[in-house]
Amino acid sequence: MIPYARQAIDQDDIDAVAEVLRSDWLTTGPAVARFEEAFADYVGIKHAVAVSSGTAALHAVMRAIGVGPEDEVIVPAITFTASANAVVYEGARPTFADVDRATLLIDPSDVEAKITSKTKAIIAVDYAGQPCDYDALRAICQKHGLVLVADACHSVGGRLGEKRVGRLADLSVFSFHPVKHIAAGEGGMVVTDDLKVAEAIRRFRNHGIVTDHHQRAKSGAWFYEMVELGYNYRMSDIHCALATSQLAKLDASVARRNVIARRYDEAFANIPGVDPLAQRADVLNAYHLYVVQIGDAGGEPARDNVYAALRARGIGTNVHYIPVYLHSFYQERFGYGPGLCPVAEATYARILSLPMFPSLTDEEVEAVIQGAREVAGEMGLQEALRQTDESA
Ligand SMILES: *Cc1c(COP(=O)(O)O)cnc(C)c1O
Repeated sequence: MIPYARQAIDQDDIDAVAEVLRSDWLTTGPAVARFEEAFADYVGIKHAVAVSSGTAALHAVMRAIGVGPEDEVIVPAITFTASANAVVYEGARPTFADVDRATLLIDPSDVEAKITSKTKAIIAVDYAGQPCDYDALRAICQKHGLVLVADACHSVGGRLGEKRVGRLADLSVFSFHPVKHIAAGEGGMVVTDDLKVAEAIRRFRNHGIVTDHHQRAKSGAWFYEMVELGYNYRMSDIHCALATSQLAKLDASVARRNVIARRYDEAFANIPGVDPLAQRADVLNAYHLYVVQIGDAGGEPARDNVYAALRARGIGTNVHYIPVYLHSFYQERFGYGPGLCPVAEATYARILSLPMFPSLTDEEVEAVIQGAREVAGEMGLQEALRQTDESA
C-alpha cells in the first residue's frame, strides 16, 4: 500500500534526539532556543516562538492579538478544523470565506464580502502548500484595520516571489506533526517581526508566567509572577532537536516534492477527470499535498468511487477537507449549514489528495499515475473543472 503521506526519519535525526536524551535538559533547555533561532534564520524574520503544536500556535496567536468574545475572525471554508477552532477557544466567532475554485485558496473578494464591524483578523491558509494571494489580503487588512495571520502549516519552505513563507503576513503559524514537512512528533511555531507579540506568546505558552529579572534580584531567584491565564504549550527539547535536524533537510524535501508534482502535472494533463489544482504565478509551492479534482462518471460525482478503486489497487488517498462549518459542532454552535460557501461545497465533492512525500520513489509515482489512468478510463471520467463551473 502506498500511503498519501509518510515522514522521513534518517540516522542523523535519531542521533540528534539521542543526544538530548543524554543531556541535562529534556524540556525548557538549549535545544528549544537553537530550533527557534534556526527557524527564524531560515524564514528571515526576527522572532520565532516554538509551541507544542500548530493548534497551540493558532490559539496563542488569537490570544496575542486580543481576539475575544465580541470578535469575528474570517477563516477559509476548506481547511483543517484547527484553523477555526482556535478562534472558538477565545470565545470569538469564526466566519467562513469561500475559496477559489481552481486553487482552493481563500477568495479575497469573498473575504471582503464577509467583513463586518466585528471582524478583527483574517486567517489565510496556504492550502496544499501554495501561498495565498497575500497582496490582495494585505490590502484588505490595511483598508479595514485587520490583523493578517497565515496558517502556513502546509507551506513551510514555500515562497511568494522572493519572500519566504513566514514573512507574508503579520504572524505565521507552522505545524511539525509527522504528516507535515518537518516531522517532530508534535510541535508548532509562531513567527513575527513584532517583539511585543512574540513576548506575549512566550508568556502564554508557559502558564502566563513572567520572570522579571529585576524582581528576582530583589526577592530572590525563586520569584516569578503569573500575570494572565496561560497554558503549558511548550515544545520539549526532544521534539526541538528532531525538528532542527529535519529543518536542515526542508529545502531538499520541497525540491523533491516539486519534481513529483511536475511528473503528476504532465501525466494528468492527458487524463480527463483527474485535474490538478491551478498554480498561482510566481509561487514556490511546498506541496504538503498534491490535490486533484475528480470529474463525474455517468452524471454522478465519482470521487468516492475513485477513492475506493485506487485503494483496491494499493494506492492510498485522502480528502482534505470537509468544509469546516458543515461539522455538527459548527452547525449546532453557530447555526451554520449547507449553502454558506457554494464553491467550497461543490469542490469538496471532487477533491482527492494523492500520495506526496519526499521518499515516494519514481516507480511509486508511475504506479499512482498508472492506477489513476486505469480508473479514469474504466469509469469514463469527465473533466472536473468544467463541471464545477456548470454546477456553480
Ligand atoms: C496540521 C494543521 C494544523 C494543526 O497542526 P497540529 O500541529 O496538528 O496541531 C492547523 N492548520 C492546518 C491547515 C493544518 O494542516
